[in-house]
Amino acid sequence: MLVFKFGGASVKDAAGIINLAAIVKKYEDQPLLIVVSAMGKTTNALEKLTKAYIDRSNDLLSIFDEIKEYHYQIIRELFDANHPIFDEVANTFVEIDWAIEDEPQDDYDFIYDQLVSVGELVSTRIVAAFLNQTGIKSQWLDVRGYIHTDNNYREGNVNWVKTRESIQQDIPALLKKGIVITQGFLGGTSENFTTTLGREGSDYTASIFAACLQADSVTTWKDVPGILNADPKFFGDTIKFDALTYTEAIEMTFYGASVIHPKTIKPLQNANIPLLVKSFNAPDAPGTIIKDTAEMNFVKPIIILKQNQVLLSISPRDYSFISEDHLSEIFSLFASRQVKINIMQTSALSFSVCFDLKPERFAKLLDGLNTKFKVKYNDNISLITVRHDKQGVLNDLVAGKTVLLEQLSRNTAQVVVR
Ligand code: ASP
Ligand code: MG
Repeated sequence: MLVFKFGGASVKDAAGIINLAAIVKKYEDQPLLIVVSAMGKTTNALEKLTKAYIDRSNDLLSIFDEIKEYHYQIIRELFDANHPIFDEVANTFVEIDWAIEDEPQDDYDFIYDQLVSVGELVSTRIVAAFLNQTGIKSQWLDVRGYIHTDNNYREGNVNWVKTRESIQQDIPALLKKGIVITQGFLGGTSENFTTTLGREGSDYTASIFAACLQADSVTTWKDVPGILNADPKFFGDTIKFDALTYTEAIEMTFYGASVIHPKTIKPLQNANIPLLVKSFNAPDAPGTIIKDTAEMNFVKPIIILKQNQVLLSISPRDYSFISEDHLSEIFSLFASRQVKINIMQTSALSFSVCFDLKPERFAKLLDGLNTKFKVKYNDNISLITVRHDKQGVLNDLVAGKTVLLEQLSRNTAQVVVR
């Protein structure tokens, strides 16, 4: 069986959904499970909505209207006015109406998951209905009954035993009846609350299903021809890799390449399932294959840019040396505030770390650190990682910038710059 994942960019408008159906048509006679993300930039819009609700901001309803109108516009183009999809979409959005009726009381991350998840619930309804309308028999599946997580909202941890059991119990029989369409990015707790797996988590969803069902491959359909050596939004002259090993792909995502979600590869590597990254604009082109025995060829180095970083330096208030006890205290603060460290360095009197700026978590981290340590930070800086830099491109990349921290190892160079 095959697993496909279609991300937001592939379903951002009616033409995208028509194109998705044309791709799926080519694979129609095989058992196929399709994971779909929210349409276009819907997740960002729902994040704004969540913030507006929690801040009790005046533009809450106008943000919501814009999200609804964006989806209605798409379904008006794809379906006749009396098609049941109009009710299904309306009923899904009602979940948000109910949730925002009362004053916000719950924890931010909990509310976030209950609201933001609506993006995937709606997109999959629309895709499943459209495939059925074009004669491709499809079944909509609520993923929250299959991907079981703990209640770590916004970053749910998958309970693999329960998840595998549920998936293996029901999905093979469903696949015999037709294509299964389900939501990426979402999970469910044992109390039936919705969780999310972290931004861009739909790839991970596809990999969980593939691992549990021993799929032949996973294909993620993207707006790029495959995995490129750098993000074309920031760098010219990119090249596509034909093949990468799982290990190289894990390294890339670890350092922040946003082409696939970091948690995606491991389950596939364990089950020896290849991951294909292909263009939805050129579905017959080979794209990139990620597998164990890939022949790799680094004609150009891998360049990964992470913006919006904070560089924080921490020193004991009494000017003592940074000791193992300090470090253990510092790490446990980072862990409990869920701030993930991208790069770190110690010196005699201070410990420096660089991480993504997430304002809520950063504020809590500072509160925790301030009681014991002196803390200084720079924000709005960038982290550049270069792998396999045979040509020495790093020098060009940092030209004219202030280097705040630098770290070199055999295959990887990292610099924090302003
Ligand atoms: N819709 C979610 C996001 O934009 C999940 C995904 O696209 O993978 O983060
Ligand atoms: Mg997305």
